[in-house]
This record gives sequence, C-alpha cells and structure tokens, in this order.
Amino acid sequence: MPFTANRQFKAAPRLLGSAKGMYYTTVDGDRVLDGTAGLWCVNAGHGRAEIAEAVGRQVSTLDFAPTFQMGHPLAFEFAERLAAISPGGPEAKLDRIFFTNSGSEAVDTALKIALAYQRAIGQGSRTRLIGRERGYHGVGFGGLSVGGMVNNRRVFPTLNGTDHLRHTHDPARNSFCEGQPEHGAELADDLERLVQLHGAETIAAVIVEPVAGSTGVLLPPKGYLERLRAIASKHGIVLIFDEVISGFGRLGAPFATDYFGVVPDIVTTAKGVTNGVVPMGAVFASRAIHDAMMTGPENVIELFHGYTYSGHPLACAAGIATLDIYEKEGLLTRGAELAEGWRNVWLALKGSRHVADIRTIGLVVGVELASRPDAPGARGYEAFVECLKRGLLIRASGDILALSPPLIVETGQIEEMARIFSSVIDDLA
Ligand code: PMP
Repeated sequence: MPFTANRQFKAAPRLLGSAKGMYYTTVDGDRVLDGTAGLWCVNAGHGRAEIAEAVGRQVSTLDFAPTFQMGHPLAFEFAERLAAISPGGPEAKLDRIFFTNSGSEAVDTALKIALAYQRAIGQGSRTRLIGRERGYHGVGFGGLSVGGMVNNRRVFPTLNGTDHLRHTHDPARNSFCEGQPEHGAELADDLERLVQLHGAETIAAVIVEPVAGSTGVLLPPKGYLERLRAIASKHGIVLIFDEVISGFGRLGAPFATDYFGVVPDIVTTAKGVTNGVVPMGAVFASRAIHDAMMTGPENVIELFHGYTYSGHPLACAAGIATLDIYEKEGLLTRGAELAEGWRNVWLALKGSRHVADIRTIGLVVGVELASRPDAPGARGYEAFVECLKRGLLIRASGDILALSPPLIVETGQIEEMARIFSSVIDDLA
C-alpha cells in the first residue's frame, strides 16, 4: 500500500469496491460521500459512462503506439484540445504540450524542459532549481529535491544545486481569512535573496504550487505570485506553476493561472486531465520555450526525454471524453458559482473545538486543528478515521484536514459534508 504505514495497515485494510457520482461504496457495502474527488482528481464525478465508452472503444481501435520516433493522431487531437483551454488563455501562449503519466513525471519533465531551454538560449550555466518549503511536487528525484516535505526527502539523496523559498503559511497573521491572505507577499523576495546569494546566471527555474494542496491548503498571499513572476522575469528564471491539484477547475477557473491572473512559463498538470480514470500528466510550456528548442541553431540540444506511455492512446481517449464533459457541464468554472456557499459552510466552523484555522479557495478547504502537543498528527488522523466511519472521505495531512469534492457536487451534499465533519470535530477526544 503506497503512502501507508504498512505494518499497521495489514490489520485492517480499508478497501473501496465501487464508485458512482459523488459516492464510493466500500467492499463491506458502506456508502461514503467523496469529499476529496478521489485524490483531487475525479473532477467530473465517478463512473462516467462517456469516459468508459471512449476508453473501451480505444482499446479495440489502437491500444498502444510506440513513442519512439512514432506517434498516433489521438495524442495530437488531445493536445489541440488542451491547447484551446491552456492556462492563461490564448494570449498567454502556454500551449505547447508534453504528455506524461503522472504528476511526479510532469514535474520532472518540467524541470528538464526548463534546463533544456536555458541551454538552448545559451544559458547553460543555469542549472540551479528553486522550490519552496512545504511544497509537494511528487516523488521523482527532481520533484522531491525541489519539494519541501521532510518525510519525503528524509532518507533520499536530493539533486545538487537546489534551494528553497520559505513557505507562506502564517496563521498568526492570516488566520480565518476569506480568500487570499493579506500578509506575506514579501516572502516572494526570497527569490531575489537567492539570486544575490548564488548569482542569477546559475538559476534555471523556480517551481511553486499556486495553492499548496498536499501540505495543507496553503494559499498565496495577495500579491505574492505577481511578485514572484516579476522577480523571475527580471532575472531570466523560468517560472513553473505546479497545477497538478489546482488545474482543471478546482479553484472555479480552468487553472490557478487564470484564477490569479499570473502567467508562468510552464504549468504542470495531471489528475483531473483524465478525471483520474487513466493515469496521465500534461506539461504546458510557453511557445517561447518550445520555439527556442525548435528553431535554435543546429547545435542546440533538443529535449531528449519521454516515457513508453507518453500520450498513451487510452489516456488520450479518456482525456478527450473528460474535456467533453467538463465543457458540456461547465465544470471548469462551476466552482466559482459554488465557492461562496462552500466558504460560508466551512467558515461557520470557526470556534469549533480544536479548530485553529480554516482556509478556503474555490472548491477546496483546509481545516487546521490545533495539534496535540504529545502527538502531532494524531488528531487529524482520528478525524479522518471517524469521518470515514460516518460516511465521509476527507484527507488528513498531519492535523490539517482537506476537502475538495468532485466539481459536480450539489449544495445539499456540501451541507452533508459539513454536517458529518462538524459532528466528528465536536466528538474528537
Ligand atoms: N504535484 C502536486 C502539486 C501534487 O499535488 C501531486 C500529487 N498530489 C504531485 C505533483 C504528484 O503527482 P502524482 O502522485 O500523480 O505523481
């Protein structure tokens, strides 16, 4: 069992048997309201017949195509469809796409693209990669090196030449804020400090999650992303937004790039790109980056990189069917209609037992519980287990509880989530 304390887990594995719409059913037949869209990915809800049919058809049409010196039309069709909704809209020109099989691969691919780009424009001395504390960028060696989660890094070597901005989590100044926090834009100046420390000519790229998800729903302070963009541009540093969670409608806009109106040079996505049905990631790069590698002098080294399953036909079929649903049902912006109600339901928990902070944005909430001094994380885990018993799936990251439902969620289901959640919090030891 990945990401699980297996020695404890063998005693009582929690197994899901089926899923439809907003609900999972466990192998024991218990219905569980999906408060986490699977793992931030099942944005159109479970068991969508359109996706099943598209994937089924694709298996019997073209099940696999080699990715070495060959391709297949569906990958181009899906790339065109993604390009049409690419982060930042048509002016941003972030519409050159590289397919991977996961968020981790998307991140490592994005880092490689940034390095290859710097080389292509004669900036080969730029090899340093900057991430952020409390960032999560998957489990590849690139992603964990720029990531900032101690447990993921602890026993592994990390890439040389990585550094980190400070994180923006500051409940003392920003607790229970409605929307983006007021304080902390100046933390973006950490990038300027790293430029002073290392020299701009050594720095290739900086990567951040616009909204950090896995480490507890950390929102960017007002002005923070703008400032990061300005500093990166000033020093020729490639700015990467990791939108593996925030992409495909999670914030009520197609991408966080659109939501915040700040355009990076590269955007990584995964999860919602296929509604979680077939593993896939997609990296969006700017035309400037793409063209530098395509039109540079003959001696420019192109990006030599790929996976056996890059642009897998089944993933492309699932992705196209997923985009059809998103577009037909307006799901990429539906979160904007629900966001205010969502926020109010959760902020009403202010003052509940143990609740230290509540952060909401789009259709995401992070409820931070005060940690037990003797056992940090225990309260969060207890809440997760108890919610599940009462029929609600949430995600615990230490003592921070996150919810982010499928974007098809109805108001009544949001209220149901809050009712179960609130009863669990009230009953916590
Ligand atoms: N980046 C971010 C921001 C993520 O949230 C995640 C996964 N939660 C990843 C990368 C890694 O994605 P995957 O698990 O698909 O490798």
